[in-house]
Amino acid sequence: MDLSYPAEAETFRKEVRAWLEENLPDGWFEPGFKLDADAKARFQKEWTKKLFEGGWICASWPDEYGGKGLTTMEAVVAAEEFHKANAPLRADFFGDTLVGPTILQWGSEEQKQHFLPLILQGKIAWCQGFSEPDAGSDLASLKTKAELDGDEWVINGQKIWTTQGFIADYIFILCRTDPDASKHKGISYLLCPMRQDGIEVRPIEQIDGSAEFCEVFFTNARCPKDNVVGGVNNGWNVAMTTLGFERGTSATTGYRRFEKEFDVILAKAKQNGKIADPEVRQGLADAWSRVQIMRFNGLRTLTAILQNKKDFGITALGATNKMFWSEYHQKVMNLAIDVLGMDGQVLTGDPSLEEAVPGYGARRTSARYPASVLQSSFFFSRSETIWGGTSQIQRNIVGERVLGLPKEPKPVAP
Ligand SMILES: Cc1cc2nc3c(=O)[nH]c(=O)nc-3n(C[C@H](O)[C@H](O)[C@H](O)COP(=O)(O)OP(=O)(O)OC[C@H]3O[C@@H](n4cnc5c(N)ncnc54)[C@H](O)[C@@H]3O)c2cc1C
Repeated sequence: MDLSYPAEAETFRKEVRAWLEENLPDGWFEPGFKLDADAKARFQKEWTKKLFEGGWICASWPDEYGGKGLTTMEAVVAAEEFHKANAPLRADFFGDTLVGPTILQWGSEEQKQHFLPLILQGKIAWCQGFSEPDAGSDLASLKTKAELDGDEWVINGQKIWTTQGFIADYIFILCRTDPDASKHKGISYLLCPMRQDGIEVRPIEQIDGSAEFCEVFFTNARCPKDNVVGGVNNGWNVAMTTLGFERGTSATTGYRRFEKEFDVILAKAKQNGKIADPEVRQGLADAWSRVQIMRFNGLRTLTAILQNKKDFGITALGATNKMFWSEYHQKVMNLAIDVLGMDGQVLTGDPSLEEAVPGYGARRTSARYPASVLQSSFFFSRSETIWGGTSQIQRNIVGERVLGLPKEPKPVAP
């Protein structure tokens, strides 16, 4: 097994590193470096601009749409260097990871020219309107409908679990546009403006007091006729592309978040003496091994993608990796709570401190529910076997599409 990257990838790595050193604030790479709240806000604004000018957000996109036209290998190396430097590499998750690549693949030229630059400059925030109260895993049962009225679609129905719905400017939404067609046909993928009278957003409060996702109600909401991506009634195929991006990104960098978090748990166990407990030691050894498995599976995914082994690389590894990391994370966060001991049973966080979950992002906390970093990560890990396709659904994908097992029996109407 040769784990080294080609020489040209290593040359490119140096270029990325040099760009980062030149553009990140002075002192960024020094231990203990911190920005105060004002400097952080300034940095975030300036950084998105610099990333856009440097072509780094979605750097594998062609030049004409704001990327750098990087090869897969170069894009992976760039992602690795940004991760190592702890430098943000995106404007808006839903925009540049999900809907942007979908527009690039399926959108009309007008849609690409209009939306892609706005996405890359972080000028519009997006949310994903797929799930409904009776359509989650069985997404094709969705009922929200869109009907043409002159130059506009008129949308009626409800979406749920819509992350960032309360800040989004646009929603990429699946609507039924032909009620007489079979379940997977007759669905269209629309880009609908959120800020209008026909849309009501109600945040859903979670166990930790945060409210990241929402219910979204549509009552005669309007969407321009031309904002259909990939053609009317072709939304299922377009949506599968989006879900592929959601389930299959960050092949060789995904494990680093868990590596950083593992270091925090290990340090805590050393500090409070739990490291002497044989069960904790065994749990830590198990966790470390699983992080290494993620690392190597990431490299296998990259190899499969570079060799264009679609079934193995994208479907099999994509589905197993999602299962593996999300189930790992729940297990290791149970261990983290054991390591915290009594501190894990009371809320020890300080909401006035802006702390990040290791390798991930902002800690979810509130004055009413002051969770510490590890507690916050423990709570969020419960959702990770659900969003982006549940573990059970990933197992169905592996069983049916990879192992070729018989399809699961469908319920028969009495
Ligand atoms: C944190 C978070 C953020 C989210 N953000 C968004 C978002 O931004 N936009 C959006 O559209 N959605 C979002 N979702 C919704 C998410 O996509 C759905 O929750 C998910 O698809 C599951 O659907 P459901 O909740 O309706 O559960 P159901 O589909 O009702 O499933 C319930 C249980 O039954 C199991 N099950 C269902 N069908 C099968 C089957 N065929 N075989 C075996 N087991 C099965 C499931 O695995 C699960 O355990 C988010 C969810 C979470 C938790």
